[in-house]
Amino acid sequence: MSEVPPTANETTESPLCPFCSGRGTVFAFVDGIRDGRRCGWQQNIKCSICEGTGRVTPARAAAIQEGERRRQDRINRRLSGREEAARLGIDPIHLNALEHGRRTDWPVSAKESDHE
Ligand SMILES: [Zn+2]
Repeated sequence: MSEVPPTANETTESPLCPFCSGRGTVFAFVDGIRDGRRCGWQQNIKCSICEGTGRVTPARAAAIQEGERRRQDRINRRLSGREEAARLGIDPIHLNALEHGRRTDWPVSAKESDHE
């Protein structure tokens, strides 16, 4: 067995979007105005990760996986997104985008220990 990484070009098809499981839509809570009053409801909206295609590029899938791993790690450390963003010295919105694979520019920090 050679040690070819599993991400090598063996897939002819893009991976399914992990966020919507390939459906292209997600059931989400939507904020809006109805009859002049602010309200919210649940509805199917186009998936913002794959933009409704249900597929992502392998690079995108990897970014989403990495973000999810970091998010779980943060939750294990009982930090809110805001606290973690402050710790990393970035904007909470930036952190949110990173955790959802919309961005990949994780800050490199010496404090960021891969503990365990
Ligand atoms: Zn999707």
